[in-house]
Amino acid sequence: MELRSGKDIVILDIGRPLTAPRNAVVPLPPIRGLETGRNPHLHGVVISHGHQDHWGLIPQVHRNVPRFIGKPTAQILRVAEFWGTGIDLHETGHLEHLVPLSLGPFTVTPYLIDHSAFDAYALLVECRGERVFYTGDFRAHGRKSRLVERLISDPPADIDYLICEGTHVSASVDTGAADEDDARSANEIVSCASEDEVEDQLTELLTDADGLVVVLCSPQNIDRIVSVYRACLRSDRDMAVDLYGSQVLAAAGQETIPIPSAQWPRVLTYVTGVQRRRVRRASAFDMTRTARAHRIFPEQLMTRERPLVLAGSFSSEISALLAMPEVKISAVVWSMWEGYLSEPSGQRLASLLESHGVPLVHAHTSGHAGLADLSRLITAMQPTRLIPIHTEHPDLLHQLGTS
Ligand SMILES: [Zn+2]
Ligand SMILES: [Zn+2]
Repeated sequence: MELRSGKDIVILDIGRPLTAPRNAVVPLPPIRGLETGRNPHLHGVVISHGHQDHWGLIPQVHRNVPRFIGKPTAQILRVAEFWGTGIDLHETGHLEHLVPLSLGPFTVTPYLIDHSAFDAYALLVECRGERVFYTGDFRAHGRKSRLVERLISDPPADIDYLICEGTHVSASVDTGAADEDDARSANEIVSCASEDEVEDQLTELLTDADGLVVVLCSPQNIDRIVSVYRACLRSDRDMAVDLYGSQVLAAAGQETIPIPSAQWPRVLTYVTGVQRRRVRRASAFDMTRTARAHRIFPEQLMTRERPLVLAGSFSSEISALLAMPEVKISAVVWSMWEGYLSEPSGQRLASLLESHGVPLVHAHTSGHAGLADLSRLITAMQPTRLIPIHTEHPDLLHQLGTS
C-alpha cells in the first residue's frame, strides 16, 4: 500500500499473494525507487507483521530503501529463513508499541494488536495535518484482545482514512444471502471461537486421551503454541515442539513464552525426520547441538512420567509416528485453517489417519476479526472515509460502518 503526500511516499506492507505459486514472478508495484533505491522521496517500507502476504515482496525491494518491522518478528523471520518460511529483512529499525517513527514528513505510530502472528501492529500515519489509521490484520478474540478493546474504547481521534481489513466480510453479510448455508456460516464467523475456547477444548481432549496427542499448528502462531502449553499444564502433560518451532519460540525473545530450556522443564524439542535431513544437508549441526539438552527422541515418546503432546510442524512426521509399534497416538488435532485440509496433502493425511483409526479433531480460531468486532472498531473510530483492504468483498465492508 502506497501512501503519498506530494512527492513523499511511505509504503505500508509489501506482500506477496499467498495464492501465487512458489516460483511465480510477482512484480513490484510501480513505485519509483522501490527497485532502484534511487528516490529520495521514498521514505521507507513499514511492515505490520510477519505474514508473507505483508512482507513477501521485500526481497525485490532495493536494500537502500529503509524498512521497519517489530523486533521479535524480525528475529522470528530470520530463524525461519533456514526452513523456507522467512527472511532476513536487514531491517533499518524496529516498531514499538506507541513509539512514533519519523519518516520524512510522515509520523508512523505503531499500535500493538491482536493477531495470529506474534508482534503484529496497526499503524497510525500522520502527515501534513491528515491522519490515516491502518488496522493491519487483527482480531479481538486472541490472547491480546485487551489491546483491541483499549483501541475501541479510546480510539485515536480525527481519523481521515481508516484502512480496515475485512477478511471475514463475505457475500453472506448481505441480506440477500444466496442460501441459508451462507447465512449460517456468516453467523458462525460473527461468534468466532476465541483462543481461550481453543485452550479449553484442547484441555478437555488431552485430559480424556491416554496416549500421545499431536497438535498440528503453525509454529509462528505463538498464541496457539501457548494455548497448547497451557492445556498441557491443565491436563498434566508435557509438550514437545519441533526444532523449527523451538527456534521460533526462542527468537520471539519474551520471558513469558515457554521455550525448551532449564527455565521451562516441561517444554522439549523433537526433531522430525524432515528436519533431521535438512540439518544434515546444510551441515547445520549447531542447530541440533543447541537443542540437545532439552531434546526428546522417538524411543522416549511413550516412556515419560507425564504423557506428551507434540505441537507444531508435525504433518510430515505422522506416518513415521504411526509406524512405531511402541507409540500409541490417541488423536491428531488440526489447529490451522481448515482450507488446507482440502488440499491434496491434507486429504492424504486425513485418509492415512482414518486407515489407522486415529481421530482427526479440529481446534482452531481465526486470526482475523469477526464481523461484530470489525463493526465495533469502525463505529468507534468514526473515520471520514473507510478504505477496505485484505478482503474479497470491499463493497460490503461499508455496511459495517455507520455511513
Ligand atoms: Zn496476517
Ligand atoms: Zn494478511
